[in-house]
Amino acid sequence: MQKPKTIRELKDSKYEVLSIKDEMRKNLITRLKESEELFPGIIGYDDTVIPQIENAILSKHDTLLLGLRGQAKTRILRNLINLLDEEIPIIKGCEINDNPFHPVCKACTDKVNEHGEYTEITWLSREYRYREKLATPDVTVADLIGDIDLVKVAEGKYLSSELTIHFGLIPRTNRGIFAINELPDLSPKIQVSLFNVLQERDIQIRGYPIRLPLDVILVFSANPEDYTNRGRIVTPLKDRIGSVVTTHYPLTRDDGIRIIEQNAWIDRNCGIKVAIPKFMKEIIEEISHIARSSQEINQSSGVSARMSICNYETLTSNAERRAIKTSEKDTVPRISDLRHIFASARGKVELDSTMDDEQEDEILRKITREAIKNVFNQYFKIEAHQEEIRLLNDKNIYVSDEMPSEEYVKLLESNKEIKKMVQGLHNKMEDVIMDREITPPMAASLVEFLLDGLHANKKLNKDELGGKATYKRRKIEI
Ligand SMILES: [Zn+2]
Repeated sequence: MQKPKTIRELKDSKYEVLSIKDEMRKNLITRLKESEELFPGIIGYDDTVIPQIENAILSKHDTLLLGLRGQAKTRILRNLINLLDEEIPIIKGCEINDNPFHPVCKACTDKVNEHGEYTEITWLSREYRYREKLATPDVTVADLIGDIDLVKVAEGKYLSSELTIHFGLIPRTNRGIFAINELPDLSPKIQVSLFNVLQERDIQIRGYPIRLPLDVILVFSANPEDYTNRGRIVTPLKDRIGSVVTTHYPLTRDDGIRIIEQNAWIDRNCGIKVAIPKFMKEIIEEISHIARSSQEINQSSGVSARMSICNYETLTSNAERRAIKTSEKDTVPRISDLRHIFASARGKVELDSTMDDEQEDEILRKITREAIKNVFNQYFKIEAHQEEIRLLNDKNIYVSDEMPSEEYVKLLESNKEIKKMVQGLHNKMEDVIMDREITPPMAASLVEFLLDGLHANKKLNKDELGGKATYKRRKIEI
């Protein structure tokens, strides 16, 4: 069947025009009945954030997502498009997507008066029904709502005619979803006019009152500290937000790792295979996790999931770089590679105001050490290896992020205690990327993990300079 092309054809097809909120509600109900995934790719929110959003949509609320940076707020808002119909009918040529049965703009009401049911309609697909704006103090009423179009005035249209209005973003998103990120950064004056458009449906543009019954769902995001800060959001607007949904960082390390794997760029297709063992992924995620509760880090803006993602990419790159230089085809990231992640971690944490900016690297180093220790102790029980540790000779052991993997194989051959402990670590790991036999690059990674883990547990001394480290048995056991 052909799609209706005029108001009459649309009427004959018995098409029912729904408000945006009814349309989203209808589509959500269908999804829920069919147990379809509402936000594909959003990880770790199934039992916390997503039910709250579903309730907000069922309630037909304008909604605010409240959370720290890097908690997928914008991504969730963009995903709301999936709850819209594939396409909806609008009056052809309308700047504000007028409902064919109830046009509101002057151009369309004129058109319908002239052509009646033969007025042409067109179909608007859902990608065009979502708009977002980052709130900054310089956003104006003209941006969001509209302005008098002086060109149209110059063309001879009277200023008192609505035809001279240049519509802003919100009218252009009529019958759609309008998202404002970082709502508290919007000036109070703009917040008031936003409220007027939505609630009173009357606005004044340069003193000229116009009535615009818009049909828009508003969604917002905000940082908790800004949102609760008194006076940052004007009360009437705050009241109009039906639901406030709080987001959070990954609740489990596995969720964090899934987010990294989904977002990091690792499929690099350059002839070098970088295999990343699970324990290295766990360390990367643990670093962000520790940073999120560190007293030395300012927690009011949070530590984004992007920190884990970028650190992971840098870790991959350093392994890749080594493999290129040593002409190895396969490589595995090691502990000594971790010093490079500071480049991607810097700036993603804000230090507490009591800290000196120069202390950033020192704090990151401390957090990294703690993360290595936490992950290591999960795989390796010191008590179970007292014997091997006791038998370690006091030769220096050198490692480096530039050392070819074969060097580590030699080290294992010449040191049976280390070999035994590495073997124990390897057996403990149920990691799909690990072969039954330990490959040379994996040996390198496991050796460094063992040595650094023993160091973290005060069983070995470590001297570090650049990417080189020397581990040595402690003279006196603590
Ligand atoms: Zn119109």
